[in-house]
Amino acid sequence: MNSENKKVITRFAPSPTGKFHVGGVRTALYNYLYARKNNGTFILRSEDTDPARSKKEYEDYFLELFTWLGLEYDAFYRQSERTEIYKKYLEQLLVEDKAYVSKETPKEEGERAEVIRFRNPNGKVSFEDAVLGRIEFDTTELGDFVIARSLESPLYHFTVVVDDFLMGVTHIIRGQEHVSNTPRQLLIQEALGAPRPIYAHASIILNEERAKLSKRDPIVRPALEYRDEGYLPGGLMNFMALLGWNPGTEQEIFTLAELVQAFSLERLQKPGAIFNPEKLEWINKEHIRQLSAPQKFSIIRDYLSEDLRNLPDYNEDRLQKLVPTLIDHITNFGMIREMVANGDLAYYFSTPKYTKEMLKTQEFLPALINIIEGLNENNFTAPIIKEAVWAFATEKGRGNVLWPMRFALSGKEKSPDPFTLAEVLGKDETIKRLNYAKDL
Ligand code: GLU
Repeated sequence: MNSENKKVITRFAPSPTGKFHVGGVRTALYNYLYARKNNGTFILRSEDTDPARSKKEYEDYFLELFTWLGLEYDAFYRQSERTEIYKKYLEQLLVEDKAYVSKETPKEEGERAEVIRFRNPNGKVSFEDAVLGRIEFDTTELGDFVIARSLESPLYHFTVVVDDFLMGVTHIIRGQEHVSNTPRQLLIQEALGAPRPIYAHASIILNEERAKLSKRDPIVRPALEYRDEGYLPGGLMNFMALLGWNPGTEQEIFTLAELVQAFSLERLQKPGAIFNPEKLEWINKEHIRQLSAPQKFSIIRDYLSEDLRNLPDYNEDRLQKLVPTLIDHITNFGMIREMVANGDLAYYFSTPKYTKEMLKTQEFLPALINIIEGLNENNFTAPIIKEAVWAFATEKGRGNVLWPMRFALSGKEKSPDPFTLAEVLGKDETIKRLNYAKDL
């Protein structure tokens, strides 16, 4: 409950005019968190009144995004289905002479000869922003701004105010780029006799150069690309939440439920927030770590290619053993796909091919095989294998023992260490590959 003891109602109101940017996830999230924290209502509203730019596919895009993120909304509205409602309020303003039909001289082809303009009382408006503090505007410079092309074709400022009014929105949390829209919306609110919601304009999001965003900037990338690249929804939301909000504690890793608990408007911050892609990797990795072992396994399996699964020795027991190594190595699951593409996983499931020169020396392989044969296959772990081999390798020169061992197991210039490889492959396969190398 807020201070007025009214039920909190927030809304997120994207316009389906393009693939939803990841930056917008933050605004959606803040509205969701605030509603949930206060046992309120979270509304999703598609602001699709511009027929030239709005597309169903873009609406589907953000709906899919909400499903992926797991952000549940309590109601969904589409502005294009509310024309009659807006019309009624436009007529009311016309009757009360708070708006008027204005004759225009079209400057360009397609421009209208008639629009509906708001009769600006030309005064000062001010509001108390929950983030930015008191903001005052002289609205004179706005003139009698256009609120509708016609009774059937209202524009953004008008529909947004009517909807927030009728839907009982108590808190408008949105990005700072909307601050300059607020005075017009306050004027329309007053004209309609609508109560004023609380405004909280969250900081702008900057890239690391604090520069203007280019099209390829990670902030403006279509949000679902992060899903497709193997980020976890919880990781992405954790990262986004911290752009412009801080919990006031040292805690940096949050589940969605923990964010709900911790969130408050008071801790939204004014200065621009820097979108640091490395921090996203770090946070996402922490979320990956928190998955259960079966979850890790099944997600990794989903990221393997058909080709890999069709390899002669592909088996899920071995994949199971490989999971901890892979998890250590990645910050998002897309990296698994890259590893597959680079041939960094195939050798776990098929005997590597190489020439004997690449082993550098075969001299110590027989003794190495002996040592490994002495190990118990039920306790064939990297630390135990290392312990068994280490003294020998130190005596003969590590490069002379460990390089051929690693190469025999992977056939690769770069791979995990030979002990890890041996553990994943298991005793039999390790010995088989070492024998193959010895006999080359
Ligand atoms: N539909 C607007 C937009 O996508 C948001 C309106 C608002 O939050 O007030 O930018």
